[in-house]
Amino acid sequence: MKEKIYEESGISKEVVKLSDDVLSGLKERFDKIDEIAEINQLKVINAMRKNKLAAEHFEASTGYGYDDAGRETLEKVYADIFHAEDALVRPTLTCGTHALTIALSANVRPGDEILSPVGKPYDTLEGVIGIRPQKGSLAEYGVTYSQVDLLPDGGFDFEGIKNAINEKTKLVTIQRSKGYEPRKTLSVERIGELVSFIKSVKPEVICMVDNCYGEFVEIIEPTDLGADLCVGSLIKNPGGGLAPIGGYIVGRSDLIENCAYRLTAPGLGKEVGATLGLNRSFFQGLFLAPVVTAGALKGAIFAANLYERFGFECVPNATEERFDIIQAVKLGSPEGMNAFCKGIQEAAPVDSYVTPEPWPMPGYHSDVIMAAGAFIQGSSIELSADGPLYPPYAVYFQGGLTWYHAKFGIMMSFQEMVNAGLIKLK
Ligand SMILES: *Cc1c(COP(=O)(O)O)cnc(C)c1O
Repeated sequence: MKEKIYEESGISKEVVKLSDDVLSGLKERFDKIDEIAEINQLKVINAMRKNKLAAEHFEASTGYGYDDAGRETLEKVYADIFHAEDALVRPTLTCGTHALTIALSANVRPGDEILSPVGKPYDTLEGVIGIRPQKGSLAEYGVTYSQVDLLPDGGFDFEGIKNAINEKTKLVTIQRSKGYEPRKTLSVERIGELVSFIKSVKPEVICMVDNCYGEFVEIIEPTDLGADLCVGSLIKNPGGGLAPIGGYIVGRSDLIENCAYRLTAPGLGKEVGATLGLNRSFFQGLFLAPVVTAGALKGAIFAANLYERFGFECVPNATEERFDIIQAVKLGSPEGMNAFCKGIQEAAPVDSYVTPEPWPMPGYHSDVIMAAGAFIQGSSIELSADGPLYPPYAVYFQGGLTWYHAKFGIMMSFQEMVNAGLIKLK
């Protein structure tokens, strides 16, 4: 029965058999992921129970949005899940970069310095901070930046970090996920270690974590281990695929207050901001997020185990522990990238009939190929893959709202590699 529907869907018997074989070796790991999802599911439900989530919280506010009980409850629920004092969760935080921009710019002043002790931050933040010249950057407001790279073995350069912290250092930004850097993703435990060290050097420094792609992968979040602020996007893990827009900032209440003044206006803060009927999607997506994240994680692990078997290097590798949902597969040729992305696209529920083509995306020094067939534009908790067309010809992929879709997408990518003669099944 299963073979038949896969065959009708374009997957050969051999690939179905191979996938089953790979998966038979992953039972224990998947059980562990299910257990994390179970714990996080209860964490989310308990926060909703504690804050007495009710049907009235799904009503739409308009205009100024005063007394939006749904918005206020949502922010309390987020704060509880992250064991933080307060939260700002808004559709007007338009994306992850915007949420990070608010968290940074609200909490530094001219003359202050921002430090990244984990190497270069995410691409878009370079413009926000002014690491590369950009109109409106924090550099234009007299905020300076310093950076300490990770050691060659991936460890923290404690000596270098200590030396970099000075009287101007106001805020330390720590990126959990590797993004498109070749380093490893940081576990929450390692982030906790880093935060403790920084506080031991200068207790009043604000430790902010870019938590993108990391939410619900573990049973604790960086705010559980001393981070002052945690920031992320609602079209990644915590939106559960249902949030159509938005970002969140959780953490210390004085810092969140600054963020609210920066997002709306000094003096107005959290009191304004109509939610226009989006609260239901935010709650419902958050409710699903632990299970959606688990499915995406299974997809990443399945892909690493499938592709490694055929000699493709994967980062993280087939057996490593995971701290975010991103998977890189080094395909070694432009043809490989095209075939992989073609398969991901073909297996999508939306735009399955189009074929991804490499194109010269602004800001990249080579063509980039992208595959995504998403219900929400640009949503990367939905199954998507992309990568720049230069050696080692690696695709980065993530997401899948359900494990079965992630699995199907990866099988289809593999099938396309086989069809293109890039993988030989014996
Ligand atoms: C996605 C991401 C961002 C920014 O997100 P956008 O929503 O695309 O603006 C920032 N940091 C990391 C690590 C990310 O993965």
